[in-house]
Amino acid sequence: MRKDTDELAGEAPLIERSFDGIRAGPLPPTPFARWSSGAVTDPSSIYRRTFVPERDGVRNARVFGPYIEDRCLCGKYEGERERGVCCEKCGVLVGSTRLRAERFGHIALPAPVPHPWLEEAIVAKSGMDRRTFDAVYEGSWAVVDGEPAAVSSWMDRGVALERDALWGPWALRERSDRPDWWIDVLPVLPPALRENVDDREDLQPDLDALCARARLEGWNLERPPPPDAAQLVAPRAMDKLLIDVVRAAQRLRESVDDDAPMVLRAFEARALRDSLKALFGPPTGARRSGRRLIDLCSARARAANNDGAEEALVALDRTLFAAGFARLDAAPAP
Ligand SMILES: [Zn+2]
Repeated sequence: MRKDTDELAGEAPLIERSFDGIRAGPLPPTPFARWSSGAVTDPSSIYRRTFVPERDGVRNARVFGPYIEDRCLCGKYEGERERGVCCEKCGVLVGSTRLRAERFGHIALPAPVPHPWLEEAIVAKSGMDRRTFDAVYEGSWAVVDGEPAAVSSWMDRGVALERDALWGPWALRERSDRPDWWIDVLPVLPPALRENVDDREDLQPDLDALCARARLEGWNLERPPPPDAAQLVAPRAMDKLLIDVVRAAQRLRESVDDDAPMVLRAFEARALRDSLKALFGPPTGARRSGRRLIDLCSARARAANNDGAEEALVALDRTLFAAGFARLDAAPAP
């Protein structure tokens, strides 16, 4: 049953609503800093020639953990005795490959983006119509003295616009009475869990395991690798979506840093928002197995942290909600 996001714009705090074991409460300002093991900054996944996860990419070993048991990426540290050592050369922790099902990463967004599932509600609460909201978000309109208007018309009237104070997303979030509905740090799911939630990838072999095999057996493109190596060349659906977000974030950051023309910044801001929408999908989207992921993570959080289990679960719920996995429609409200 679909619960329209408009419904969530009411006064009742979101935290009261429980669906399918998930309490999708307000997103805290920095939703999950303590869950993240590091930032994903490079729009890449696996290096095709060597079958090694790219440094800083969406499957990198520094953030998400080693994909070969008890071995850092560069191979300087190897074996059970070295467990717990973080290699100073490649930055990869020596330990179990199971870490890759536990460690979250994050993407720092250069501008706040409305949570795609709450966007309608955010627009409704802003008191603007959709077109005005989009124009302000993309920066061709600005809010001056509480009134949205086309930037050119304010300039004509000699009003100087302070770039950071008034520009697009920041202006909107500042005006919003629910700044917690905006995302500026996007949680990235551990690589080993991604396959669990992407229904299109049910039949694909475990990419981490393939990479590990490729490295241990020394596959390369000169000697034709085994047939299943072909699987490595095409990035996975969810990896692709994450790569799009990283790339869009990078471009927007550059255009803001370079003080690029407004029209260019507007384009990049829209691209970033669209990339997040594509990653999240609609709240009623195709991620039927998302439930499995939540069970998996919850059990782990419970086992890992007996004292603060309740707190850890709430933090986890929020993290998954902010990452686009805890759904708003899975079960009727209590
Ligand atoms: Zn190393």
